[in-house]
Amino acid sequence: MHPGSITILGGGTAGWMAACLVQKQWPACKVRLIESSKIGIIGVGEGSTPQMKAFFDAIGVTEAEWMPRAHATYKVGIRFEDWSGKPGFDHYFHPFPSELDVHTAGEFFHQTQLRRGGLAVDAHPDRFLLPGLLADQKKGPQASANFPFEVSYGYHFDAHEVGSFLKDIATERGVEWIDNEIADVEVSEDGDVAALVAKDGERYEADFFFDASGFRAMIIEQALGAKHLGFGDNLFNDSAVVMPTDVAEGGPECATRAIAMKAGWRWSIPLTHRTGNGYVFSSRYIDPQDAEAELRGALGLGDDVEARHLKMRCGRLEESWKGNCLAVGLSQGFLEPLEATALHIVLATVEGFIAAVDRGGLDPATREQFNSDLGARYEGIRDYIVAHYRTAPRRDTQYWQETAEHDRLSDSLKQVMTAWFTGQDLAQEVARQGIATYYNAASWHCLLAGYGNFPDVARLKEPPVEVPAADMGALTNFLSACAMNYRPHSEMLAALNEGQ
Ligand SMILES: Cc1cc2nc3c(=O)[nH]c(=O)nc-3n(C[C@H](O)[C@H](O)[C@H](O)COP(=O)(O)OP(=O)(O)OC[C@H]3O[C@@H](n4cnc5c(N)ncnc54)[C@H](O)[C@@H]3O)c2cc1C
Repeated sequence: MHPGSITILGGGTAGWMAACLVQKQWPACKVRLIESSKIGIIGVGEGSTPQMKAFFDAIGVTEAEWMPRAHATYKVGIRFEDWSGKPGFDHYFHPFPSELDVHTAGEFFHQTQLRRGGLAVDAHPDRFLLPGLLADQKKGPQASANFPFEVSYGYHFDAHEVGSFLKDIATERGVEWIDNEIADVEVSEDGDVAALVAKDGERYEADFFFDASGFRAMIIEQALGAKHLGFGDNLFNDSAVVMPTDVAEGGPECATRAIAMKAGWRWSIPLTHRTGNGYVFSSRYIDPQDAEAELRGALGLGDDVEARHLKMRCGRLEESWKGNCLAVGLSQGFLEPLEATALHIVLATVEGFIAAVDRGGLDPATREQFNSDLGARYEGIRDYIVAHYRTAPRRDTQYWQETAEHDRLSDSLKQVMTAWFTGQDLAQEVARQGIATYYNAASWHCLLAGYGNFPDVARLKEPPVEVPAADMGALTNFLSACAMNYRPHSEMLAALNEGQ
């Protein structure tokens, strides 16, 4: 049986996503959302995974309804630039999965194994998977009707506009919205939250509470004492500086760019009205003012464009669900934004919670299983992000040396890396560990091959005739022919605006 009433503290993207999902799945539940306009929202977070599409599908909202308002664009993946320095590997594309992968991923895996074994065969991910080619050609992810192969995609969007759009949807559908600042959390003797108490003395009671108060984690951590497990040991970045630029010539791309910098990396996120840029760095290795100057230099911006500095707290709660409270969004944890997974975790958390309660009610065993599954998801995604830094060959600054040389890795990641570097079957290892639900075998191959983690070119030998290597000409023709079926990204965006 689900709770009869839920009060959500926080009206950032996480709070409003949660409100929409609960309202849709449990229409009989009374949902109230409290936020303080004086505190405001973090207002960054402009890239998503395909789960954002799943979210809008789940709440029954079409792209034509929300995308134009949020200045949104399509995203087929992330192009990693300047992380490697190895000849031929100065960039690679990490694509979202596509139905066409079944035709080419096997050959990609095979080629990487040959090259890891010292044979001079092509094993760059971009030669095998379609989305990078679509991005290069400024094509969008939707094909003509006679080419029925789905390419998964996410979006880029203005975080403020998505929040305000979701607020409109939620309130139209019956969610109560209150603008008030909460000063205190009343906890009853059994350890549950009894009420939220506002600065003006107003008390808000509910059966269940969602803490979506951002990095403050006001209910779950401050009042209920949930333990935060920091990831600083192997994820070094703790800060960001953000600055917009104009839309690139030729219109927005349908890919995020993640470009390595002296002490971190910067994103370039194309929206329809501007490009979002942010340098994510470790303040242990660079001063925020120097990071700002480095970003200005990279973007060719003078001092007239305002920069915004942010602090990030990377880690996760030991228990996202504690007593009668579920933490959602930044209050439950944050992995730095390299793979833009934060909103993806919001969806997984709320949908997972709803499914768990529908199955097993609000009992402790359900809660324990839910917390354990969520913890595994965080660690699975964390490992994939750590692997970027640990295996990127760049070593030009102390930051890149130390992110690559420490050994504070989970056993799971150690086993993945061992499988790769000892020439074992990586797809089998990913399947054996059951970690493909976080990142599948193609993603792991892209990461490890994309940085050029192979024997030095000088040591590679021509493959003997009896070793069957992929026919690269045929693959290139196949992908080029597939790409011809996809519409230009600009056309897809224009069609959305016309539908408005
Ligand atoms: C540098 C950076 C880059 C990021 N990039 C991405 C990305 O590309 N993709 C992605 O998915 N995510 C990204 N994120 C994460 C993303 O920004 C957040 O997950 C998302 O914005 C949701 O935030 P939130 O709703 O949890 O918190 P917030 O937006 O901080 O909202 C907190 C809410 O709680 C309210 N509140 C707090 N205290 C009180 C109180 N006492 N009384 C009343 N109300 C209160 C506030 O008013 C606000 O409404 C990024 C984060 C950072 C820091």
